[in-house]
Amino acid sequence: MRTNQPQTVYLSEYRVPAYLVDHVDLRFELFEEGARVHSTLAVRRNPESADTSGRLELDGDSLVLEGLQLDGRDLEPGQYENQGDRLVIPEVPEQFGLTVVTWIEPQNNTRLEGLYKSSGMFCTQCEAEGFRCITFFPDRPDVMARFRTRIEADRAGYPVLLSNGNDVERGELEGGRHFVTWEDPFPKPCYLFALVAGDLVEKRDSFRTCTGREIDLRMYVEPRNADKCDHAMDSLKRSMRWDEAIYGREYDLDIFMIVAVDDFNMGAMENKGLNIFNSSCVLASQDTATDATFQRIEAIVAHEYFHNWSGNRVTCRDWFQLSLKEGFTVFRDSQFSADMGSTTVKRIEDVTLLRTAQFAEDGGPMAHPVRPSFYMEISNFYTLTIYEKGAEVVRMIHTLLGPDLFRKGSDLYFERHDGQAVTTDDFVKAMEDASGRDLTRFRRWYEQAGTPVVTVRDEYDEARQVYRLDIRQTVPDTPGQTGKQPQHIPFALGLLGTDGQPLALKLVGDDALPAEQRVLELTEASHSFEFEGVAARPVPSLLRDFSAPVRVDYPWTREQLLFLMSHDPDGFNRWDAGQRLAVDVIESLVDAGEDAEIEPRLVSAYRHLLTDEGLDQALVAKMLQLPSEAYLIELAAAPRVQQIYRARTRVMDHLAAALREELLACYHRNNGGAEYRLTSDDIARRTLRNTALGWLLQIGDAEGRELALRQYHDADNMTDRLGALRALVNSDYHEDREQVLDAFYQRWQDDPQVVELWFSVQSGSTRGNLEQVRALMEHAAFDWKNPNKVRSVIGVFAGQNLAAFHAEDGSGYRFLAEQVRHLDASNPQIAARLATPLTRWRKFASVHGEQMKAALETIRDREGLSRDVYEVVHKSLAG
Ligand SMILES: [Zn+2]
Repeated sequence: MRTNQPQTVYLSEYRVPAYLVDHVDLRFELFEEGARVHSTLAVRRNPESADTSGRLELDGDSLVLEGLQLDGRDLEPGQYENQGDRLVIPEVPEQFGLTVVTWIEPQNNTRLEGLYKSSGMFCTQCEAEGFRCITFFPDRPDVMARFRTRIEADRAGYPVLLSNGNDVERGELEGGRHFVTWEDPFPKPCYLFALVAGDLVEKRDSFRTCTGREIDLRMYVEPRNADKCDHAMDSLKRSMRWDEAIYGREYDLDIFMIVAVDDFNMGAMENKGLNIFNSSCVLASQDTATDATFQRIEAIVAHEYFHNWSGNRVTCRDWFQLSLKEGFTVFRDSQFSADMGSTTVKRIEDVTLLRTAQFAEDGGPMAHPVRPSFYMEISNFYTLTIYEKGAEVVRMIHTLLGPDLFRKGSDLYFERHDGQAVTTDDFVKAMEDASGRDLTRFRRWYEQAGTPVVTVRDEYDEARQVYRLDIRQTVPDTPGQTGKQPQHIPFALGLLGTDGQPLALKLVGDDALPAEQRVLELTEASHSFEFEGVAARPVPSLLRDFSAPVRVDYPWTREQLLFLMSHDPDGFNRWDAGQRLAVDVIESLVDAGEDAEIEPRLVSAYRHLLTDEGLDQALVAKMLQLPSEAYLIELAAAPRVQQIYRARTRVMDHLAAALREELLACYHRNNGGAEYRLTSDDIARRTLRNTALGWLLQIGDAEGRELALRQYHDADNMTDRLGALRALVNSDYHEDREQVLDAFYQRWQDDPQVVELWFSVQSGSTRGNLEQVRALMEHAAFDWKNPNKVRSVIGVFAGQNLAAFHAEDGSGYRFLAEQVRHLDASNPQIAARLATPLTRWRKFASVHGEQMKAALETIRDREGLSRDVYEVVHKSLAG
């Protein structure tokens, strides 16, 4: 089924399905040596299809066909064609029943697509095209059917048997086996099918919906994880309540189930009524999970739950529309997280990811629009562009329409398309119809790849008391796309007077009442805006709250940035001004000598942050983080990584040494000792304390070392314990480092999620080298079959330990290529994702780029390359 020249699929070739499936009756016989799947489909010709050939084609992958009947009669070999990845029946009637019997081997399924085994349990992952690994089926999201699923298995080994919908029948079978039958009343595409069979404990709770229906909530986990479910369950109930309040969406089935699985390619999956989660995205306790993990779990539980409407009730017509469900749902979960915690901090975190990683994707060989127009392997399109940029696009609609009209639009969208498989254009149309706004130009956000650059220049006319902004936008060329059109950009801004107070904005020739913030709408290649009644040259606060996913080019002075850092009423821009200043200082040192002076005002700005307790401490905790190496690399034209790393380290050392007393005071001030709580205040305190500790250890401070050791031993939660561990691992106290790493492993070796943290602290440490990473891969806890382990060692090394990954002898690149080649044989999805850092070879200075390219070529030359890796490697080497 794997070919060396995979086919490209084009959006322009979309045709409605020739046949529809109204009902699917599944029977799974599960055994240790394999599984037999009996599937009976009620099929009818699609009246909307122009295809009248009478030819039925079903998708398949790695299936053994054991039986095939049409309307109860066996088909003879001449009456069908089994092409392996396709089952063709050349002549079928208008309406018929088709029974397919297949044999599969879940225990040998290392790709983790379709039905497979993880830690002794059977589970499924069918998005995007995994259902075809279970049975022959029209595996496309616009075929929506009602499913009835009967699961049969050994009762002792698999007491819990789950599928979508409600359980309608259960009973005993011969030979110690039993069965459960599930019925899902809602038509769904097969990518939302799920099955779980295992020896799991059940945690129960309930939720009363806005119309008074009682929903049975159940979590299923391995017995050792029984005490790690509370946070996910609480998050689920908060999500259900929030979706009713903010979007008017009520849950529809009687049962909602969550299952935790150790081996999982993704974070979690929104199968109808039966969400399956990667253990690391759902299990948590104070002892084993960090604040960041708790927050991630809340966000992912919400995300998957929200999909019940944005994805399941209204689904995607085809996979080019993936962002229809993902962009909208990521937007919804980020609104939810903002409501649950700090709005500004959530925005900073989202934008950090977007600017560091999505902008990099948009500038690289895999750049694609939010709605791509072609692909080879859809698994490669579960990208930051589809998810994060897709969410930003929905967010811009929200900004342009305002919350009330946006809600009207989403109500219309759900009402109009309930039970349908639709397109991103249908979504935008509903927003247009509900609001009366014209979003024609806005649609270009879905069609054009690349990050727009918004260039802003200003002029102050003292005589007229007018401040003018000249704003131009360009969308850069990306592979296969040139000469792009201007996009519709909501550009939020404010102006600050010399006293730091916001000015009332009044545009020349505009009747709107003066306001302290305006959202300018950019729809042309260039615009000029004149603000009147401006008494002195103001400081502009541009793109407030990051109102559009664009790069802003404005010639900031350090004075302006320092001014915004302390005066901007927009928390996001205050943080951003600090980032810009730090970037400017670090960049100025990249080419300077070792004795070049470091901007003294940066030190005083950070001192102010550390000492002024009147500031929002959650924001301060963010502002104290220097821009990451990955972000600095993203910003640089032809980055030389070692120089960037050295410049950033110099700044950090300098700040830590100059602010030692303030860091110690900050540490002690935030060393509460109070009960562990997950409020944003408490999270900020722990972040501040651990940041201070990290900086002190960075310069080898002896008192810092004492504090870290004490904190490591006394901590009553994983955030503080890991904070101390990380500070020591990133220090020059080698003996302490080894001792705490050993102690940590001894204590947590039976907990896979904590072992993953232990791996990533080491593989991501800039004090670590390639030999240490190779040693981790030899460790007993490392497992090639477990994607979390692969990510926490190899992925974290290539993504975070950038100085070692980009070693100028090319060893990091060769190492990564070797792992990609190895993993491609067993898990192509993860292998393709792992290869990403190499694909940007063109961006780097030649000292890096040539060797990255050479490493990619060694992957390209591997025999029997998967379609997943083929696409990534060939696209990045092309041209
Ligand atoms: Zn999703």
